Amino acid sequence: MSLKDVVILGCSSQQPTRMRNHGAYLVRWNEEGLLFDPGEGTQRQFIFANISPTCVTRIFVSHFHGDHCLGLGSMFMRLNLDKISHPVICYYPGNYKKNFDCLRYGCIYHENIKIIEKPVFKENLIYQDEKFKIEARFLKHGIDNIGWRITEPDKIKFKKELLKKYNVKGPNVKRLEKEKKIEIEGKKIKLEDVSYLKKGDSIAVVIDTKKCNEAVELAKNAKILICESTYLEKDKHLALKYMHMTAKQAAEIALEAQVDTLILTHFSARYLDMEAFEKEAKKIFPNTIIAEDFKRVNFPK
Ligand SMILES: [Zn+2]
Ligand SMILES: [Zn+2]
Repeated sequence: MSLKDVVILGCSSQQPTRMRNHGAYLVRWNEEGLLFDPGEGTQRQFIFANISPTCVTRIFVSHFHGDHCLGLGSMFMRLNLDKISHPVICYYPGNYKKNFDCLRYGCIYHENIKIIEKPVFKENLIYQDEKFKIEARFLKHGIDNIGWRITEPDKIKFKKELLKKYNVKGPNVKRLEKEKKIEIEGKKIKLEDVSYLKKGDSIAVVIDTKKCNEAVELAKNAKILICESTYLEKDKHLALKYMHMTAKQAAEIALEAQVDTLILTHFSARYLDMEAFEKEAKKIFPNTIIAEDFKRVNFPK
């Protein structure tokens, strides 16, 4: 089975600290490397994480505040240096093409890799193949800012002992999957008699927004929600002022959306004690993980 996990490459907000680099989140999934919001220093964070940046196949920029994009230029430089043979597809808020170009062409290097730009102007489905679909929603942060959701299709899984019991074998298995029912030796067999539906994995990334319905909709029943919680509830006036969230609000989104696992991130540099975030969120949503640089989270079974 191919690798499927989330690697936190950084979890600070605007100002990094000694312990927390600018945010960046790598989701390894179906032989792809999905990199979300490469903040400053992301290239080096890959080295500390002992992961080759060449695994990156898609880059998602939620918005163009520096802590979400300053690492873009150096990632491009590095991928060119490594002469990767696969293209890198980049998704970003379409109205900010100028900022994307500044970061892409801000320094001089030989561009020999293929960058495919996919500026996003409209919400909802932006990509789909047989492995996964990508959805985008505009969140509430004062400037265009996109939340993402990656969803794998549900899969039919056959129960071997039941296939044997009903004598379904060889090409009949494929036929049953396609036609949903089959007749063998005068016996009618339905697909659901011998199989079950395995729910596809899903992950939502909601970073830099005030609490909003779009975030809940994006996260609906997701296996993992990576969510910003810049502040603690005691500083919620700041969250309101700067269009961010508190740990409590992030936990409320997780609860409302009925996600499996919540990863809290994008912490303000003013906080040194992360336990307070854990306590505040877990009161509402117990299955909360506090992001730390280089922490890896597997998809829940
Ligand atoms: Zn930010
Ligand atoms: Zn921001």
